[in-house]
Formats: sequence, C-alpha cells, structure tokens
Amino acid sequence: MKRGDLDLFAAHCRQHGLSVTHQRLAIFGALASSREHPSAEQLHRAVQRKLPTLSLATVYKNLEALKKIGAVSDVNALHDQGRYEASLNGTGAGGPHHHLVCTSCKRVRDLHDPAFDKLVLRDPQGFAVHSVRVQAEGLCPDCGARERALAARRTAGMGRGADVRTHTKQERTSPRTGVLR
Ligand SMILES: [Zn+2]
Ligand SMILES: [Zn+2]
Repeated sequence: MKRGDLDLFAAHCRQHGLSVTHQRLAIFGALASSREHPSAEQLHRAVQRKLPTLSLATVYKNLEALKKIGAVSDVNALHDQGRYEASLNGTGAGGPHHHLVCTSCKRVRDLHDPAFDKLVLRDPQGFAVHSVRVQAEGLCPDCGARERALAARRTAGMGRGADVRTHTKQERTSPRTGVLR
C-alpha cells in the first residue's frame, strides 16, 4: 500500500460522515494494498491476522458502508462470490480502470486502456451514464496454457473423437482473445 492511502481514506470517511474505525482502516488497507480483487471471505482472512475477533458479517457490513461512500467498489458480475477493490482515486489501482477476467480460475486483472475510457454509448436509453467499465473475459495465461496442453494431449491420444470435442469447444471461442474457454 502506498503511504498516504490511509490518510486519504480517513479524510474521505470524515467528509462523508463515516467514523474512521480500526476495522475500516484494516479492511481498506488490505484492499488498497492488493491488486487481486479479493472476495469478502479472502479479505476477512487477511484482516483477521490483525483483528482476530473480526467477523465475516462485520466485513460485509463495512464493505457495504464503504461502497456507499465510493471508497470501495465491487468488481464484475461473472462470479457467484462478490469481489472487491479500493476505488478511492489515488489508492489501489490509482483511478478508474477496466478488468480482464479469467472465466476459468476467476482471476481478475486491472486493465488500463485509454481507448476504453473514451467509449461513448450510442443508445444509453435515457440513462445518465457517468462511467463505462469494460470487462474483457477469456483465459488467463496459466489457464490458457493448461487448456492448450490438454487439447494437445486429446488430439494426440484420441483421434477422431477428440476432433469433435475440440470443434464444440471452438464454438465458444472468445472473439477478443481467440482462446478457448
Ligand atoms: Zn485462469
Ligand atoms: Zn480493478
């Protein structure tokens, strides 16, 4: 975590009438120092080292409060489990950004792409849009390598049957990355 993140955070809380508690500092500190976009459970485990009595329910409650004042945001709708990050300007990833999401291991990476920042919606359907966040989905390098190794083994070992399976997989190829899902 960058020095000053917690000062920024404390000032932001006070500005929004939220008291600056040890719990909030620990939760925000853990989020701001990680680029892993952790789930509430993972965050709970990380913060418990500092605050052993902290319950998961309290982590959720604090995340909700911090989301309301814009210090924390949740990331993408792909996962069954919510994932969070510090979103206060100057903390965490530093500012608004987009995400690369692995559909296999659910890894989330920050994506800074000025071209996406300039996207304008052709038909916002009456919405007053204040930001557009792009979520690019595909396989991360690790999962991609695993899939390719598996596919190579299938093709080598199973002949015709393997071709059919490879073909059905290819129909789900992601156009952006061109990798198999
Ligand atoms: Zn992956
Ligand atoms: Zn992010």
